[in-house]
Amino acid sequence: MKAKIAPLILLTLLLSAAAYPQGINGAYHSYLELEADMFALQHRYPDIVKVFDIGDSLEKRNLYAMKISDNVLVEEDEPEVLFLGCHHAREWISVEVPFLMGKYLAENYAADPAVRRFVDQSEIWIVPLVNPDGLEYTIHGYRLWRKNRRDNGGGDYGVDLNRNYGYKWGVDNLGSSANPASEVYRGSAPFSEPETRAVRDLYLKKNFQALVSFHSYSQVILYPWGYTKQPPDGAATLKEIAAEMSARIQAVNGRLYEYGQSGDALYLTNGDVTDWAFAMSGIPAYTIELTPIDWASGGFFNRQEDIDPIFEENLPAMAYLIDRAIRDYRPIGPAAYDLKKRLFKRD
Ligand SMILES: [Zn+2]
Repeated sequence: MKAKIAPLILLTLLLSAAAYPQGINGAYHSYLELEADMFALQHRYPDIVKVFDIGDSLEKRNLYAMKISDNVLVEEDEPEVLFLGCHHAREWISVEVPFLMGKYLAENYAADPAVRRFVDQSEIWIVPLVNPDGLEYTIHGYRLWRKNRRDNGGGDYGVDLNRNYGYKWGVDNLGSSANPASEVYRGSAPFSEPETRAVRDLYLKKNFQALVSFHSYSQVILYPWGYTKQPPDGAATLKEIAAEMSARIQAVNGRLYEYGQSGDALYLTNGDVTDWAFAMSGIPAYTIELTPIDWASGGFFNRQEDIDPIFEENLPAMAYLIDRAIRDYRPIGPAAYDLKKRLFKRD
């Protein structure tokens, strides 16, 4: 009996080890695992994938952006779309969804005409891990850590990176805080943190037409403004696109992602990336708060088996946004690029 069961158990262990790399983070990426997988993707698909180092975190980890496009080494006059993940350390699924988008585009480029059109006609930028120091701390320190690892003095650590962007930063204390001990501490100044500066500098060098910043969890799609309940100019378009994305997500697994203006649908915040991006260039900019598959036990702790279904349900929403960026794009030409660079005093 024993002899018969033992190999079965061994086989099961081997299979699960192969499917889910071991370690406390399981199938979720650590900083080093993500770095390795991003460069592996570039190695496999050098014509359409390029990894860029866009700056250093506070603890000197590299901040990476992955570009997916044809002629990937050239900046072509094509619409650019930005997907961001993991401003908040404990929201592990928010690393996986944008990374898997890059992987999906690379792996399906050769065979899928829709993917080929996206990759040929747009430039998709993916920063799956805005907060590597915080992520590592959730793996090796405290699983529910949210902020980066700034030493604020007095025994307090961390700035909430999604309260550190420079539009209406600290306009009030609704959803952000000047208290260094707070979970939503906004930092000592706008863009005080190297992680938000890296996102800012990438954004200003490019001509992004749309942006999604992934978080978890609430199963909701949010758009500017976050700092006020007043609707922005263009609110109808923001809402229309959110509705399209929500419908496409729901069509996959039946899960309804509610949508609305941040301040109305969830809570008021200030200094988040979508308000800043929208203020800079008026583009559709969304926070997608991903689902916990199981609300009772899920929360921040999605199972590793949930990674693929959550990616798969968000894929058509991301595809819609890219498609829309392509259809709505008005090429601005080199002269406008030069003007933009002069305006922002960048090289
Ligand atoms: Zn978050």
